[in-house]
This record gives sequence, C-alpha cells and structure tokens, in this order.
Amino acid sequence: MKVLLLEDDLELGNGVRIALSDQSMEVVWVRRLSDAASSLDANTFDMVLLDLGLPDGDGLELLGRLRRHRKNLPVLILSARDRLQDRLRGLDGGADDYLVKPFALAELLSRVRALARRSYGFEEDQLTLRGLALDEATRSVTVNGREVELSRCEFDLLALLLKRMGRVVTRRALEQQVLPGGPTNESNALDVHMSNLRRKIGKGYVRTVRGIGYVIDARQREESADSTLDGAP
Ligand code: CA
Repeated sequence: MKVLLLEDDLELGNGVRIALSDQSMEVVWVRRLSDAASSLDANTFDMVLLDLGLPDGDGLELLGRLRRHRKNLPVLILSARDRLQDRLRGLDGGADDYLVKPFALAELLSRVRALARRSYGFEEDQLTLRGLALDEATRSVTVNGREVELSRCEFDLLALLLKRMGRVVTRRALEQQVLPGGPTNESNALDVHMSNLRRKIGKGYVRTVRGIGYVIDARQREESADSTLDGAP
C-alpha cells in the first residue's frame, strides 16, 4: 500500500513514516501543500494522511481539490484542531477519518488498517505478493493457493522480508532477528535457511544483494550485475 503523508512537523512526520514503513507500507512524506500536489500528480496513492496546519496553506484546500478530482482516494486527517466544528469541517469536507493530535502511533496504525479494510478489503494479518500469501495469525504460507510448510526460521525470514518489502535487509539484521541464537560464527546458517525457503516458495521472490543482504521487491525486476534473483548468496 502506498501512502502520501503530508505533515510539516519533523518529529511527528518521521515517527509516522517509520511506523507505516514497518507495516510494509510505502510512504511518500512531504511537508508542504505544493509538494503534496506534485506528488499526487506523479504517483498513484492508496491513502492520504493529511495535516491541516501547513506552512503554505490549509490541508482542507487539498482535501477539497482531492474530492473534486479523485473521489475515492481515502483521506485520514491528522490535526491538533480538536473542536467539534473542526472535525465536522474535515469530515464534511470529504475526509474518511479524523485523528486528533497528539495520538498514539498504535491508534494511527489501527485507523489506517481499518480505513484500508473499508476501502480495499485488505486482510489485516495477511501479507501478499504475486501469488504468495503469508498469514501471521495462523503462521501459514501459500503459493498460488498451495500450502507451503516452512520451519520457524524460514517463516520468520519471509515475514521480515515481506514487511520491509522494497528495502534491503542486511544479513546481520536477519541473523539477529531470525536465528535462534542470533549471529553466530557459523556464518552459513542464514544461507541454509534462505536456500530452503527459496526452494519451498519458488523463484522470483527473494533477491540477493551481494555482500549486503536480501530484499523482496514490490515489483518483479530484472537481474542486475550486483544482485541475483534466487542465485547463490
Ligand atoms: Ca502542522
């Protein structure tokens, strides 16, 4: 899911960006209305998180423009304006939800998930990609509808890479978070789990970034000189 975050507060914007990225959402963060407008022209977003008090204007202006041109794009307002009439203005202006600052990131994530579910029917615990589906609640994985049995390590590897889709996860981070004893001197333990995982889920998902780690690309991409898809680690 690709989210446009319009928030001029550096600390809050960065916190929200990290929290959403950790949920494997792709976040484009801008701090001015003008940048949001050009981002919206250049990208296709699944949701907008919209601050109202911005250095170059009021977020409600953008909301109005969005509702005139992109009727269905879900918008969640994040604002310190907490009076009833402010919230009504936002919701009547076409926002799908309104969260008053300060808020807990956990509540924001929960609202974002709920809005995504209402708008797109996304499954909360499921991570899916090109025929591959991972369900965290049941710890099950299917490839094109066929159940695949993974060991605990293999499942955790896949879940971690899927959650950070599009970003390279270093070998050390994977070893620390997935291997039972953390990084060990037996440097090929990770390679063994990775090769088993790839054999079970099939080609085309996990790409090796030589000397650094692994990544699952959001879109399938060609092999390049410094990376191999399903090749030797
Ligand atoms: Ca602001």
